[in-house]
Amino acid sequence: MSEFKLLSCPFCGFDAPFICTSRYGDMQELHYHVHCGKCGSLGGHHVEKDKAIEAWNTRKPMENIMEQLMEEELSTTIKANMYNDEYFNGRADGVGKAIKIIEEENAHKK
Ligand SMILES: [Zn+2]
Repeated sequence: MSEFKLLSCPFCGFDAPFICTSRYGDMQELHYHVHCGKCGSLGGHHVEKDKAIEAWNTRKPMENIMEQLMEEELSTTIKANMYNDEYFNGRADGVGKAIKIIEEENAHKK
């Protein structure tokens, strides 16, 4: 058996995630991924077990999230203005709210 250590779930802190195998999407090859039995989050799917473990252990869910949200807000706001579309207006609104929530959360931590 190979030796490996899985880190705790980065989302809920559960300390006993496990490795699953699955056939991912249309692919016929068996894939490995790590699964958190508590919150249900999944790591990336990889053909090699080691890669699936590495993907899980190097997961940083909050890294770059503000950057991604800012980009998303900008692009949806542009689309909302361009098409005056209800869907994009709602989306831009939602992303804007998410940014505020995270900013407030970060302000509390400091
Ligand atoms: Zn979890």
